Amino acid sequence: MVDAIYLCGMFNKVRVRFAPSPTGGLHLGGVRTVLYNYLFAKKHGGDFIVRVEDTDQARFVEGAEEYIFKCLEWCGLVPDESVLHGGEYAPYRQSERKATYRQYAEQLVKDGYAYYAFDTPEELDAMRERLKTKGSHSLQYDHSIRMEMNNSLRLLPNETQELLDRGTPYVIRIKVNPNEFVLFTDMIRGDIEFDTNNVDDKVLLKADGMPTYHLAVVVDDYLMKISHAFRGEEWLPSAPVHILLWKYLFGLDAMPQWAHLPLILKPDGNGKLSKRDADRLGFPVYAMDWRDPKSSELTRGFKEIGFLPEAFINLLAVLGWNDGTEQEIFTLDELIEKFSIDKVHKGGAKFDFEKAKWYNQEWIKKLPVTNYELRIKEHLQANGILNIEEEYLLKVIELVKDRCTLLNDFYTQGAFFFQAPPTIDTDSVKAKWDEKKNLFFTELVRGYQFTPVWEHSELEREFKEIASANQLKPGELMLPFRIMLVGGKFGPGVFDIASMIGKEETIRRIEHSLSLLQ
Ligand code: GLU
Repeated sequence: MVDAIYLCGMFNKVRVRFAPSPTGGLHLGGVRTVLYNYLFAKKHGGDFIVRVEDTDQARFVEGAEEYIFKCLEWCGLVPDESVLHGGEYAPYRQSERKATYRQYAEQLVKDGYAYYAFDTPEELDAMRERLKTKGSHSLQYDHSIRMEMNNSLRLLPNETQELLDRGTPYVIRIKVNPNEFVLFTDMIRGDIEFDTNNVDDKVLLKADGMPTYHLAVVVDDYLMKISHAFRGEEWLPSAPVHILLWKYLFGLDAMPQWAHLPLILKPDGNGKLSKRDADRLGFPVYAMDWRDPKSSELTRGFKEIGFLPEAFINLLAVLGWNDGTEQEIFTLDELIEKFSIDKVHKGGAKFDFEKAKWYNQEWIKKLPVTNYELRIKEHLQANGILNIEEEYLLKVIELVKDRCTLLNDFYTQGAFFFQAPPTIDTDSVKAKWDEKKNLFFTELVRGYQFTPVWEHSELEREFKEIASANQLKPGELMLPFRIMLVGGKFGPGVFDIASMIGKEETIRRIEHSLSLLQ
């Protein structure tokens, strides 16, 4: 059932869009925007559209578009319409819609809402210099200066025509009238008002014939019948220009409802979380690994450091939203059911990497092992553990999963099940090592050689028996035994480990350590 309050004006279906510019790695804030769009669409039986906003040729980055779709696929947030998924409103890549935008820009000029501007870069620099000397508080191209510039508002119609006929490069700018107020109601922030005296005459169509984001976003939201536009708060300052364009081109009834999502902040709450902050603090900020095609620099992603998509989605959902209860773990289906835009917070949400890992750990515990077994296997293989038998791997995962917060921890926590530890922390044993213990382990090797059934309780029974025959407490022998098998002071129960790695390997590891302790 579609919630009546969410549909107004000309819309008969909820249609939302994520509109990324393919300029690099996908920031977790971007994924959260996708998620909120997706949840809202699914909750209201609507469509989720991905539109690629690639009109800024200078910022185009090879491979970034494919990468964005891979990230969405990993997160399980599949669009209903996109470049990849097709749809009635294709093309979904703005660079392929170039002709459409020009038509609307020209329409605006004809109606007196926009104008041609022929100013050269030098003239624009000179304008800024003039404004600086005048002590002007802003250096913008706006109502206060435009009549001094080289544009069709100041020139006579025949002068403008002549420049156009001569092929003089130009841009089309919106004509923002001073002394007006632009009002709109944001679904998260409520009523918002902008004074047009502070709004500049933004470029709508660039000299290369491409639209700017401002024009393209409005035209496409209209043509694609977008009913709700959710985007990051950083776009709020652009809202007045967009609203004026809606008013001039299509009428405000056709305009989607806006929701500007709160920022994701640095852990200390001091400003927006950037890639630089995340690098400095040692955690990822991108959904997946991103390799910059120019510099070849690799930036690690949540996926590759070992996050589960279920956990990633869950932790992003609650960064700026909660359902009003204490519940923290949500499946995607639960999120679809419970999500509501009026429970999205106004204030920014601090990102806490330790809490993010907690979510992942909870999901490791919650999901059936078979959901992520393959990823662990691949990670072990990438680290040189090639011979992995499925049933054995499943047992290892069960034994160590409580100790793993990231999937990649399964290597550090479980490699010794597959191969002898590369180093043995004999230093932790040496201080309390003596001839009695040496004798115990020598006897243990002998005993274990003849153990009829190689399994946990039998191994433990024998271990204790030999210990008491040597007047030693099993407690003092457990740590050396663990270090011999694992290499350090970690891992699950020692008899579980011994029973898993088998008789020969257990004996080999004890003997190897004994030789080191000589
Ligand atoms: N293309 C803009 C971006 O890169 C999208 C903003 C919007 O959703 O309106 O974030």
